[in-house]
Amino acid sequence: MPTALETLVKILRLEREQRCSDTAVEGGLGAYSRVWEPDARRQARNGEQQQLVDELRALMQRYSSTEQQQERAGQVQYMLDRILSRVPSRSQRAGGTTSRKTSQRGNPRRERRQGRDRGERPQGQSRRTVRATMPDLEQRKTLQRPPRRPRVPQDAEAVDKTLGELKQPVTALKGVGERRAEAFARLGLRSLGDLLYFLPRRHDDYRQVCYIGKLEPGMQATVIGEVEKTGVRLVAGGRRDFHLTLQDESGQLDAVFFGQRWLGSQIKPGDQIVLSGHTAEWGSRLQMSGPEWEPLETENLHTVGLVPVYALTEGLQQRSLRRMMRDFVDDLTGRLPDYVPEATRERTELADLGWALQQAHFPDGPDHLRHARDRLVFDELLQLQLAVLESRREWQASPADALSISDDQLKALQSVLFAFNLTASQLRAVADIRADMAAPVPMNRLLQGDVGSGKTAVAALALALTVLAGKQGALIVPLSVLAEQHYRTLSATLARMPDERRPRVALLTGATPAAERATILEELASGALDVVIGTHALIQEGVNFHDLGLAIIDEQHRFGVQQRKALRGKGRNPHLLMMTATPIPRSLALTIHADLDLTVIDELPPGRKPVQTTIIEPVARERVFSFVAAELARGRQAFIVHPLVEESQRIDTRAATQAYEELVQVFFRYRVALLHGRLSAAEKDEILASFARGDHDVLVTTSVAEVGVDVPNASVMVIEGANRFGLAQLHQFRGRVGRGEHASTCLLIPDRDEETANERLEALVNISDGFRLAELDWEQRGPGDLVGTRQSGGSLMQLAEYISPQLVALAQREARTINAEDPALALPQHELLARRVSRLRDARSDIS
Ligand code: ADP
Ligand code: MG
Repeated sequence: MPTALETLVKILRLEREQRCSDTAVEGGLGAYSRVWEPDARRQARNGEQQQLVDELRALMQRYSSTEQQQERAGQVQYMLDRILSRVPSRSQRAGGTTSRKTSQRGNPRRERRQGRDRGERPQGQSRRTVRATMPDLEQRKTLQRPPRRPRVPQDAEAVDKTLGELKQPVTALKGVGERRAEAFARLGLRSLGDLLYFLPRRHDDYRQVCYIGKLEPGMQATVIGEVEKTGVRLVAGGRRDFHLTLQDESGQLDAVFFGQRWLGSQIKPGDQIVLSGHTAEWGSRLQMSGPEWEPLETENLHTVGLVPVYALTEGLQQRSLRRMMRDFVDDLTGRLPDYVPEATRERTELADLGWALQQAHFPDGPDHLRHARDRLVFDELLQLQLAVLESRREWQASPADALSISDDQLKALQSVLFAFNLTASQLRAVADIRADMAAPVPMNRLLQGDVGSGKTAVAALALALTVLAGKQGALIVPLSVLAEQHYRTLSATLARMPDERRPRVALLTGATPAAERATILEELASGALDVVIGTHALIQEGVNFHDLGLAIIDEQHRFGVQQRKALRGKGRNPHLLMMTATPIPRSLALTIHADLDLTVIDELPPGRKPVQTTIIEPVARERVFSFVAAELARGRQAFIVHPLVEESQRIDTRAATQAYEELVQVFFRYRVALLHGRLSAAEKDEILASFARGDHDVLVTTSVAEVGVDVPNASVMVIEGANRFGLAQLHQFRGRVGRGEHASTCLLIPDRDEETANERLEALVNISDGFRLAELDWEQRGPGDLVGTRQSGGSLMQLAEYISPQLVALAQREARTINAEDPALALPQHELLARRVSRLRDARSDIS
């Protein structure tokens, strides 16, 4: 139910749209005021709001008796301003008349600002803008499905003309000269097409601007007010925070901007600004930490409900950019050809491209925005899918050597290599890999399995198989300490092969001494070495193989496309196996890695003790410490994780350092080490290695320690600020313990008592399956954590948070359908699509 005030806002906007003819409600506003008043009065919370009701009723009555249309327009505007609390109430005003000029008296600064604004925007122009941007009120209702536009067949010439236009430089646009073009270039926008896809950073929902007096802790809200005072505060550690107090007629709100002292030159007392952020209680006052802010821009707030906010750079102003975009987007999207084939649009019921782009910039309502994003996300997913299908075809067109061994050989290998029986999942993975490698097409497989699911065993078998087939194998991992660990395990495992087949295994990392390195390189090139385990050092220039048959990449998400490509180049199209312990929901994995075949190990070896997981309230931290101390006393080791709290790594490092110093005191009998993101790879390696060796009892870390180091003696994982992590990541942390024979514990300490967060943590207590947790995580937080920025294509990043399982499934289905029907995208209805896909491929050069 809209409140009486909300209803009145709608009516006033409609009135304005109808050129202030007093026709928005039957009988006119004056008559309506008598119906409206009782409701409004009932809903008024305090004296101030009662006063607003009085004032509005009087204004509505006066409105109906005003003849002059221009005057009425002013009155409508004034009423809207009053309701949206941008004009001080009558009692706060010096003169007490409704004249706007008088209303600003006593605040010369604001008078100047508004005077300037008005000067910039003559009346007539302002009204034209108002009409042009007024969304259709009918359309504002819920929108189940995007509207289907009647298809106007466009001739090839018109299509080419519009597409040609998209390639023009931004200067082709009226009002964009050299200076603006330079500013756009800084944002990476060069062509009109770039500009069309320059989606707003966010939309501010000014339909729900809140009175400060109505705010409660824990709300996501937008408020408008006047800056009462500002200041800079020096906090421990030397950081300077910018503080301000914002006031509207209903109350005051504090805001703090961490480490942003320079804001003092941009926000001054007396300024009218918009703050948008999360409220929390701080002492007895409400506060927003690090809110979004911008100066109040009267025009846009007046006109559109969901206001686009674009990224800016020097030389671009939000308001003029928005106005420019409005004209440009409206014009172009009206005739934009759609490259998604009609059949696909029919099947998926997604919006048309032109409509979607128009609404993605200037949505008529939240539903519209959702449909628009769905379509744009779908586009990205579809293109990505088609592009990787194509590169896969190309890549597999050049043959690889088929490596095969007999069933008997495989059986014999299994029994000699392992003291245990492989799980059914492991056997399936081995079968997949064996089949892939037996084909004259290079394997390109992703092996996904939870931490501890036994991927290394599968890798060992694949390497053994390669050696038996007379080829070399390589395993590459992101950190030296991991390489060493794998080297120990794998060389021990492979040493069990029968004498005549026993491979020679070497370790190559950045820390390998020069002389030893030279020998290894020589032996790799001559074929004297069969298997090499290493870090990035393996893919450097100068590393040549005699005959590389299989390359395995562990923790594949830590390697970029270029590095994979380099590894591939080390042999004649070797088979490639990638492994990851980051569980990604299957459908998402298939999209991101559409050119990879996927094998999932979805069970743990038998007899694994689940990690006992408990949520601990922050006040009970002492108990955690005594628990940890007890484990340490038994000779165990512990991880203590601290979340990344700030944007800035420097601040986090300081926070972690501080926590570390405290913990050194708490565990003064023990050896405590600190690992954080600002250390070099070598330093991280050293710390992890010494912890793994048992040289330290406690490892305090920020989130970098997710790498799969095996510390069987570690039995406790404490996660501070657990509510700040996604489920998938928490699960990764938890996987660091419970790897040995000791019963292990994971203690989650949230730093905020927020319901949803705790529900999430409960899931962790009850669920130990990483894939189920990943699915949950995706539903709750979107795919951001899972996808990572590196793997996604350019504009997909803009929209990553809107990827949903449904859209992924839809895009997959359509890509496969299109691919089956027309693999080369040669049919006329796929012509535009083919152009898009090839552009994406050019931009990314190697998708995999
Ligand atoms: P991952 O690399 O997937 O994290 P690992 O391959 O390191 O997992 O395996 C974890 C532990 O489980 C190792 O100690 C390994 O020896 C053991 N393991 C692997 N497969 C089995 C199995 N089928 N049965 C019993 N133990 C196994
Ligand atoms: Mg592993």
